[in-house]
Amino acid sequence: MVMGCLFCKIVALEIPADIVAESELSVAFNDISPQAPTHVLIVPKVHFQNAAELAYEQPDSIADLFQLAGEIAESRGLSGYRTVFNTGAEAGQSVFHAHLHLLGGRSLSWPPG
Ligand code: 5GP
Ligand code: ZN
Repeated sequence: MVMGCLFCKIVALEIPADIVAESELSVAFNDISPQAPTHVLIVPKVHFQNAAELAYEQPDSIADLFQLAGEIAESRGLSGYRTVFNTGAEAGQSVFHAHLHLLGGRSLSWPPG
């Protein structure tokens, strides 16, 4: 756990979140500011700054995040969905604990802004 990290605190249940799924390695909870009818954040239980760091340090966790995303999407009957990692402030990352956005339930335009 990293001091001051919002998502470490959510994983540790120190800050409330609407948890929708969990696996051995990951926790999934609703985004507080949803950008689509389904907007779930799927985070590794262990703190890594971004997706690349996670991939180097705990590669099984990357697979686990996408498996949980697929299970949530299937359980909700989503016909399509988008999975996104923002890396770095310029790309919109605001919480520096790696997290996979799962977005769905509406049509999504491309390219993203
Ligand atoms: P990022 O911008 O880093 O890719 O994504 C961070 C996400 O965390 C944003 O979509 C933001 O709405 C969400 N978020 C920020 N603070 C909280 C919070 O306290 N609880 C929850 N559930 N989501 C949060
Ligand atoms: Zn953290």
